[in-house]
Amino acid sequence: MNNNLLPESLEVFEPSTQEFIKSIPATSPEEFLVKIKNAKKKKEYWNSSKPRYRKIILKKFRKAIIKRLEDFIAIITKETGKKKFESLIELYGAVEHLKNTETLINSIFRKKRRNVGTLITKKAWTKLEPVGMAGIISPWNYPLLLTITSVVEAIAAGNVVILKPSEYTPLTTELLKEVWDKSTGEEDVFQVIYGGSDLGSKLVNSIHVDIICFTGSTKIGKIIARDCAKYLKPVILELGGKDPMIICDDTDLNRAVNAALWGGMTNAGQTCISVERIYVDERIKDIFIEKISKKVKQLKAGKSTNCDIGSITTKNGLEKIINQVNKVKNTSGIYQGIVDDKKGYFYPPTIVVDPNDDSDLMKDETFGPVVSISSFRTIEEVIKKANSVGYGLSASIFTKNKKKAIIIAKQLKVGSIAINDVLSHYGIADLPFGGTGLSGFGRVHGKEGIKSFCNLKSYMTNRFQIGDEIWWYSKSKRYYNIIIRFLKFYFG
Ligand code: NAD
Repeated sequence: MNNNLLPESLEVFEPSTQEFIKSIPATSPEEFLVKIKNAKKKKEYWNSSKPRYRKIILKKFRKAIIKRLEDFIAIITKETGKKKFESLIELYGAVEHLKNTETLINSIFRKKRRNVGTLITKKAWTKLEPVGMAGIISPWNYPLLLTITSVVEAIAAGNVVILKPSEYTPLTTELLKEVWDKSTGEEDVFQVIYGGSDLGSKLVNSIHVDIICFTGSTKIGKIIARDCAKYLKPVILELGGKDPMIICDDTDLNRAVNAALWGGMTNAGQTCISVERIYVDERIKDIFIEKISKKVKQLKAGKSTNCDIGSITTKNGLEKIINQVNKVKNTSGIYQGIVDDKKGYFYPPTIVVDPNDDSDLMKDETFGPVVSISSFRTIEEVIKKANSVGYGLSASIFTKNKKKAIIIAKQLKVGSIAINDVLSHYGIADLPFGGTGLSGFGRVHGKEGIKSFCNLKSYMTNRFQIGDEIWWYSKSKRYYNIIIRFLKFYFG
């Protein structure tokens, strides 16, 4: 992949074989301006379109995606290196999300009455309006799901959209755009630009783009927040995570072991809400490690269908994982599975027991099939540890005691909590998703996701005409004492 500033083409490789797949032309600065111009021309039309029309368009889009289902699974698998079943689940999440967004469109844009309080001669209401033109920047780890969620919410909200997918995985987007164009006939409502960081930066800094939605690393998220601040441009930041999994001593141990393995290893651990840190009650630590270490040794990473774990998508990503584990391997217990492949960017599924709390592995996102295990004695201690890294995307809690789960959940500084499960909360399309702290701000999914791409406009008018208001110049002196009496009577 050519990652130069404004490269002429993006060369896409298959990470599980390192073989070249395809080269696609990158968007030049001139083409970028043409796309902006096209979007501007379409803006007024789409901004003022009827929500029910947008619903029809999105329904057509969903059905067309399902018709190309196998093509999507094939291209996601090829360009990310994930397992075919994982690509299927990704597509499932994408269409589930699309359908949920369609169901919300009609009601969300209706005018909503507001209480006028003591101003009884007035009536007031709110109405959502599209922001205008949305710029969306997406990552490579779920090139369909993490692209479609924001794109569809922005379009449903009535915005024209310009998307820049990751330079590592442009082919899923290429197919998505083809399907959009053929199924909707609204080519310029949703446009795509292809390139690396410099093109992303152009999108963020364009004065014609009214809102940015960025899904990616915390490091780049900070740059984008700074760039948006120059224009006071609204920005939604869906950033990295270092999710803790808290396992209490009263849990269903086998379920916790299997959930920890899948939650940490699926998509080769390249999920923003991967289980990265396990905190297990000291009383069950030994038995938990005995069970999970046996199982991790049986897991295989490789391209063949009998392997469980796919490849790491980028070479840089693989190097980061190797570095983090190398730094703790002489001071921690390590249990590893198998790499059954010599060609691609594979890393063995790995459990690291008791790494130093100050190690990179415990503080920074790993984004690989690596999970740490530490123990705790008290609830207070585990909450402190879980909250110690600054990231705040999501967390999971395993206990049979529902009250205890809620007590812990309330004290965790994260955007989402899964109780006795991992990752599945992302699949509930109606449940808002987003982070706190270093994991970003703003929400996607559900009605909150659509609202993120809207301005909320407030309206007020008179119920009937009453001449001047009592606080206007002509009347203010006359009404002073009356208002004093009213305040004492009503609010006193
Ligand atoms: P990244 O931050 O390296 O890149 C993301 C996108 O930003 C790419 O399209 C890239 O070209 C673009 N970009 C880079 N520099 C830019 C700049 N200065 N201005 C504008 N755009 C720029 O992230 P990645 O490696 O593609 O994705 C992995 C990261 O994404 C992980 O940290 C992961 O946790 C995070 N992530 C978060 C969520 C979430 O919902 N919170 C979901 C998935 C992934």
